Amino acid sequence: MKKRILVAIDGSTHAAKALDFAADMAKAPGSELVMLHVVSDRRLSDDERRLAETEYGAALRGDPALDKLIQGGGDLLVTTMLGRSRESELTARRAIGKRLLDETAATARKAGAKVADLLVPAGDPAAEIVAAADRLGIDHIVMGARGLGGFGSLVLGSVSQAVIHQVKCPCTIVK
Ligand code: ATP
Ligand code: MG
Repeated sequence: MKKRILVAIDGSTHAAKALDFAADMAKAPGSELVMLHVVSDRRLSDDERRLAETEYGAALRGDPALDKLIQGGGDLLVTTMLGRSRESELTARRAIGKRLLDETAATARKAGAKVADLLVPAGDPAAEIVAAADRLGIDHIVMGARGLGGFGSLVLGSVSQAVIHQVKCPCTIVK
């Protein structure tokens, strides 16, 4: 039976587990994976900006989307553009998200799954996951129990909890 499986990726080890599970499901004939990473559309705080610089500065240098944005190219720091405008922050976040999904898709393909689409919308993660599932006629959502937040003692993070409450299709939470 044809099945479209949506897997929600935030870069956490929980989401990596969810991906393994989803890729295994998507190996069935006629099944395909849609991968989604939601980027935040908030402005970065000073702390977040510093973190982004340390975490992603090296990775982002040389990215075509950012090279276009940063006139002059070369070894410019991501900070130059993070914080320059809301639009440039979003471009940086999308580039980071797209790179994350490219890596994730490679893992899924290696596991034998067909990857149909990579989506990097901006907004509230749970709302975007639910909206994408409705819009794309998704048959099954797979996500991790926790994510990058990961410090609380709750079994479920706020995103997986909100998705379970709102979504109409079957949803697997991988622990
Ligand atoms: P919280 O965010 O409430 O502090 P948390 O980070 O531990 O808690 P969640 O954010 O709910 O937990 O993450 C649970 C799962 O939701 C992740 O494993 C991932 O599958 C999905 N998820 C979370 N954030 C995103 C995102 N920005 N884009 C796509 N999927 C996400
Ligand atoms: Mg989270």
